[in-house]
Amino acid sequence: MAPIAVEPSPATASVLPTSIETPPTHPDRLRVDRGTKAFSSGAVSLISLPAGSVFAKITTATPAKKAYTSVQTGANSHIELNSDLVYCNHSCQPTLNFDMGKMEVRVVDDRDLKAGDALTFFYPSSEWEMDQTFQCNCGTETCKGWIDGAKKMDRNSLEGYWLNEHIEGLLKERESS
Ligand SMILES: [Zn+2]
Repeated sequence: MAPIAVEPSPATASVLPTSIETPPTHPDRLRVDRGTKAFSSGAVSLISLPAGSVFAKITTATPAKKAYTSVQTGANSHIELNSDLVYCNHSCQPTLNFDMGKMEVRVVDDRDLKAGDALTFFYPSSEWEMDQTFQCNCGTETCKGWIDGAKKMDRNSLEGYWLNEHIEGLLKERESS
């Protein structure tokens, strides 16, 4: 995953719900704010939920090659979300966890979600190596700066983050090699 471009290239246009003709996929809980500049679109929560609760089940995913819109589900597997959840940008202080083992999106465990909050997740929690690396501008105190997947991060930088099982596994493999 990487921040979402406003106008995707023709190759990815078919998987991105960017057109106003495409109905919102989660109209009861998620609003897409489409920015005027590239990589400035994002998702905003329409609902408030307690910490740790399920925000949405991932029901429309299809296997895919790694791309700036894909989410990693295992050591060698990736999916496209095929829904407005693709607009959840990265943050170093995210509001959501994308659990690709359970195929569900949950509110982070240590903070409630409030209506109006930006819907974000910590991309290294699912991505070992990013398809497109980028400079994070989340502006939080814990900002990691250049986001390049969990592979390039040490354990200390990942401390306190919920991580998918495949990322935990790859980290253990790295540490034992
Ligand atoms: Zn950041």
